[in-house]
Amino acid sequence: MDKKSISEVEVRGKRVLIRVDFNVPLDKQGAITDDTRIRAALPTIEYLIQEGARIILASHLGRPKGQVNLSYSLAPVAKHLSELLAQNVVLAKDCVGDPVIEAAHTLQDGQVLLLENVRFHAEEEKNDPTFARDLASLAELYVNDAFGTAHRAHASTEGVTHYLPAVAGFLMQKEVEFMGNALERPERPFVAIIGGAKVSDKIGVIENLLEKVDILIIGGGMANTFLKAQGFKMGKSLLEEEKVELAKQLIEKAKEKGVTLELPIDVVVARAFEANAPHRTVSVSEIQDDEMALDIGSASAERFAERLATAKTVIWNGPMGVFEMDAFAKGTERVAQAVAICKGTTIVGGGDSVAAVEKMGVADQMTHISTGGGASLEFLEGKVLPGVAALQDKA
Ligand code: ADP
Ligand code: MG
Repeated sequence: MDKKSISEVEVRGKRVLIRVDFNVPLDKQGAITDDTRIRAALPTIEYLIQEGARIILASHLGRPKGQVNLSYSLAPVAKHLSELLAQNVVLAKDCVGDPVIEAAHTLQDGQVLLLENVRFHAEEEKNDPTFARDLASLAELYVNDAFGTAHRAHASTEGVTHYLPAVAGFLMQKEVEFMGNALERPERPFVAIIGGAKVSDKIGVIENLLEKVDILIIGGGMANTFLKAQGFKMGKSLLEEEKVELAKQLIEKAKEKGVTLELPIDVVVARAFEANAPHRTVSVSEIQDDEMALDIGSASAERFAERLATAKTVIWNGPMGVFEMDAFAKGTERVAQAVAICKGTTIVGGGDSVAAVEKMGVADQMTHISTGGGASLEFLEGKVLPGVAALQDKA
């Protein structure tokens, strides 16, 4: 990575402001239901504790829309992080202001202070310079370890870098390195699997990947629009009529670039979008007017798996079907298994794809699972993420 890492700067005795992504899911009682994002930031936090830095953590949680709303308080995170670190993490009442400055300035080496939700202030998402300077005034060094919010130019991800030396944390470094290497220096064959509901969500990703991959596999709901572009009747399937023309162009572009485009050859269809709807597997040429495609069929899944078997680099974003319903999860399961046993570098990004991989118990067999849904999509689109761009370049 061409950005300076936390390991390259002196931190001992320094107040270090770390932007982390502690935007964890909470249940109705306010308990954390998945602490992946907290654990993902531990390497950076533990390193800084060990090096004797004074640690100030900043994060958002949910969408409090610029107002104090205690159902989005980081209190449950402070408690859980205290347990994970086996040391007390103090929660500040706010993220800026005199009491917070006081708390930050009285930190001892190795101590950790967690600021309250930065999105309790409307200035955060507006990237307000005064608010950014107030945040910066808490510390002497800024570390961004929040890859998941790096695609947003907010005060705590971008604005603050105008007032403090800014470097990348280990999670940020890992995310950018894995995905950056895959896109810029892939070992070939390079295979991308794109799925999920809609083409319109991922046009930029498909366009960028067509410039880079050897094989592009498209499944899930978005494949329907491509199948329609190829002349198949899709019945009641989820379909974006207005994107059929674009799908035709992308199919042409793949041909021009010499990219092998793999679309489903069979699908699992049902007459209703329901978990217990009767279903059958048919060739893509046999979908009836009252049927909808809810998963790729087993022949497609086997074909995709064969393509993945010899890949040296794999990027996967988006499930192959409505995996939330068991009857339509088999295509996604088969692909997850094929990616898991692939010997190449395998990267999974996207909220639902990551959930699918975790549900199927193969997460630990992937080389890298991105913690950033929207951020990883923008990265795959080839966009420069403002939170990354703002960090200091390597010397
Ligand atoms: P990710 O979060 O991994 O980027 P998306 O959000 O793009 O993935 O898409 C995931 C959603 O797509 C899932 O909720 C899944 O049910 C839906 N989906 C996948 N295939 C189909 C299909 N054939 N018809 C309707 N919805 C589908
Ligand atoms: Mg999603």
